[in-house]
Amino acid sequence: MSQETIFTKIINREIPADILYEDDLALAFKDINPQAPFHVLVIPKTPIATMNDINEENAHLVGHLSLVAAKLAKEHGFADNGYRAVMNCNNDGGQTVYHIHLHVLAGKEMGWPPY
Ligand code: IMP
Repeated sequence: MSQETIFTKIINREIPADILYEDDLALAFKDINPQAPFHVLVIPKTPIATMNDINEENAHLVGHLSLVAAKLAKEHGFADNGYRAVMNCNNDGGQTVYHIHLHVLAGKEMGWPPY
């Protein structure tokens, strides 16, 4: 499976995105089809196709995504009320873009189960 997805184009500024955060390891931008008042995707700059491809070498990047997600939620005032951070994997998980991303959803009360 190719590592090149639309998210690589966003990282390389080849297509536009509403970017909220960037550092050496990660990028966060608004989801184009938001499912909550606040819906941001946090991605590693190094492409990892799915959760199944996380390993000892790249696991620190996934931890970093969580750090960025919490930072953004705090900065935007959602820490106390809460928020949801979710990563979908493959078809049954609902994954459509094969470059891992943490969805950060906030601004409304979420339901459970998520289907
Ligand atoms: P997945 O279904 O968990 O893989 O999530 C992919 C997400 O990427 C979806 O919520 C899409 O709305 C979002 N998405 C797809 N293309 C773009 C884009 O170009 N900019 C921002 N978000 C996008």
